Amino acid sequence: MNDDMGYSQCIRKTEGSERGVFHFYESVPMEEKMIFIGCHLSVTDGYEAMGKRMTRFGGNTFAWFTRNPRGGKTRAVDPEDIDALRMHLQKDGFGPLVAHGSYTMNLCSAKEETRANGLDMLRQDLERMELLPGNYYNFHPGSHTGQGIEAGITQIADALNLVITPDLHTTVLLETMAGKGSEIGGTFEELREIIDRAVHPEKIGVCLDTCHVWDGGYDLVGDPDGVLQHFDTVIGLERLKAVHFNDSKNGCGSRKDRHEKLGLGCIGMDAMKRIALHPVLQNLPFILETPNEDEGYIREIHTVLEWQQ
Ligand SMILES: [Zn+2]
Ligand SMILES: [Zn+2]
Repeated sequence: MNDDMGYSQCIRKTEGSERGVFHFYESVPMEEKMIFIGCHLSVTDGYEAMGKRMTRFGGNTFAWFTRNPRGGKTRAVDPEDIDALRMHLQKDGFGPLVAHGSYTMNLCSAKEETRANGLDMLRQDLERMELLPGNYYNFHPGSHTGQGIEAGITQIADALNLVITPDLHTTVLLETMAGKGSEIGGTFEELREIIDRAVHPEKIGVCLDTCHVWDGGYDLVGDPDGVLQHFDTVIGLERLKAVHFNDSKNGCGSRKDRHEKLGLGCIGMDAMKRIALHPVLQNLPFILETPNEDEGYIREIHTVLEWQQ
């Protein structure tokens, strides 16, 4: 689906910041500037199959849902399949992989049963992640469904503290959210609060979703440096481990969370390119979650690779 009407809904903030806080990074040689790029893949055919598929797509990282997005049963992990994936990732120079927890997992629902289910999913997902070479597990912090932000943050932190152990190999990534409905994580400060309450904060990082951050009111078009500077001040760039690389169908601050193909949305191609090449974001895995079929993903992966030339 080609969506042109999105543009009319775009609210652009044009005044940029002159702060230029990252100027020192401009001395980094161009050949050292590189991100890893890939998209979501289906785990249906196993893990090695995902690695090989991403190589065919031209990318060097990928994401997958740890279980059916609507919840339900998870697939058993075959150790031989994992070994084969590990070899493939090494051979083809992949970056870190970024697993995605289920959308139905809500660690801070007002319903106790939903919270308990979420905790079970989180525990099982992290157990399974220990078998995999992908060390990042990204999830939506949750929606407080009327309990209030403070209660939501407490419940999310409590859940993480129940399952994160000091010997966990996986880094758990809190995703920046658009702030739709009662979502927690629509501001960097909310994510910081969760991390502050963690018993093992060293096991927690953040995945920055460009569509969500933009929809949440952070002006990635007019002032990307300012947004990343604010992220650094509040959370710390050392905690930024992955990027969900999506354009948005809506304007800055819309809180809608509707992804768009690269360049066809309100963020636009120039700003997306600036983000992909931003000095402080180099060496991170960038995951496309744009509304595409295979062909569209292959095209977007190659667009990003061309930017890096
Ligand atoms: Zn997500
Ligand atoms: Zn989204």
